[in-house]
Amino acid sequence: MKILISGAGVAGLACARELGVRGHDVTLVEQAPGLRLTGTPIDIRGAAIEAVAAMGLLPEIRRRRVRMSERTWFVDSAGEPVARMPMAAVSDSADDIELLREDLIRILADALPAATAPATPPATAPATAPATAPTIRFGDAIVAISEEPDGVDIRFVSGLAGRYDLVLGADGQHSAVRRLVFGPDGDHLRHLGVYFALADHPAEADSEGPNSLYNVPRRMAGLFRYGGRAVAVFQFRSERLDFDHRDLDAQKRILADAFAGFRSWRIPELLDAARADPAFYLTAASQVHLPAWHRGRVALVGDAGYCPAFLSGRGTSLALLGARFLAEELDRRGPGPDPAPGHSEAFARYEARLRPHVTRAQDRVHGGRDRMLPESWGDIAARNKALRALDTPDRL
Ligand SMILES: Cc1cc2nc3c(=O)[nH]c(=O)nc-3n(C[C@H](O)[C@H](O)[C@H](O)COP(=O)(O)OP(=O)(O)OC[C@H]3O[C@@H](n4cnc5c(N)ncnc54)[C@H](O)[C@@H]3O)c2cc1C
Repeated sequence: MKILISGAGVAGLACARELGVRGHDVTLVEQAPGLRLTGTPIDIRGAAIEAVAAMGLLPEIRRRRVRMSERTWFVDSAGEPVARMPMAAVSDSADDIELLREDLIRILADALPAATAPATPPATAPATAPATAPTIRFGDAIVAISEEPDGVDIRFVSGLAGRYDLVLGADGQHSAVRRLVFGPDGDHLRHLGVYFALADHPAEADSEGPNSLYNVPRRMAGLFRYGGRAVAVFQFRSERLDFDHRDLDAQKRILADAFAGFRSWRIPELLDAARADPAFYLTAASQVHLPAWHRGRVALVGDAGYCPAFLSGRGTSLALLGARFLAEELDRRGPGPDPAPGHSEAFARYEARLRPHVTRAQDRVHGGRDRMLPESWGDIAARNKALRALDTPDRL
């Protein structure tokens, strides 16, 4: 089938890989000029570990494993460790794999099938279609989707147009495909009252030390070091803010305003790093809730359809699992002379398999917010005390 995927993040690349190896003719459009490699380490958990194993990616993912959360401390204003990240509360099991988002994106991109069409056709028809190399187009995005009885007509920002059998929206929390096909963000995005920001801090790249998180009421600033780089991270509680997701200066101002008046620990220095970073990233902790993730020939995968919010630590796992389930279901053959099942049934089975995983992930988000962003100085002290009581003495 001729399949268009919007978004080359975790979900989009995983879909392109899984559909390409099954012989589908895949085009991937990504609005950024290249792969977006920023991001703190992410987690692969539970059933998603089986999914990446089935995709043949587990050995490389394990090789790239980091243990950042285990090296993370809450610190006081003098930088002294006061409590440690509770691993039992943030992980599902000891099998969880933490790795740099950048590494996962590269692993998925490297795993895209290359053109493998044989020079001469085989004498007998192969049991499965040969893998097909996806086409990736950067700096382009869908502007219009029109479903016809035998395909979907697409117009792109670039002026290009095309007809596809299926369209997959893997374009993240603020999915354009979702907006165009399922309606405005306001109908589906649930803001959880928290924002997250991330900026490179090159001046600290060669420094040593644990990863530090520092709280003031309703806010957290931190410094993480991994893979030879350092990043400043921020979280803060806030009502929903309206801003243009393409306006970086506006986003940097939002962060500066959120921390205005707080100058303890390294907050001013970390804000300076944010101001200087051209790849600064700000996002809301929002969940996406939709009664169905497919309509006609269009389906959503990853954050676009069922973002659990970064506070859950499960968005990447759902994206990988969703891509795998979707590809398997589109590929499933029934009995009979014309066994290819319709896309509607395949989309429905994809959703039925994944829904319980999504519900569990979305339900588990609130503990993360209360732990990371206590409301008052008293709550911060109480959180630290409770974490110390949980920790083993040799780790304190
Ligand atoms: C730059 C970046 C940094 C991140 N950092 C973190 C982090 O530090 N911690 C964390 O927990 N999660 C982070 N995330 C989110 C995390 O990667 C996802 O929650 C999770 O992996 C699910 O992946 P996804 O593919 O559904 O969404 P995403 O990883 O968000 O990927 C969506 C992709 O779609 C592209 N896109 C968006 N709109 C369009 C459009 N209209 N047309 C075409 N392409 C479009 C985006 O540029 C992006 O490449 C980050 C995401 C990005 C994009």
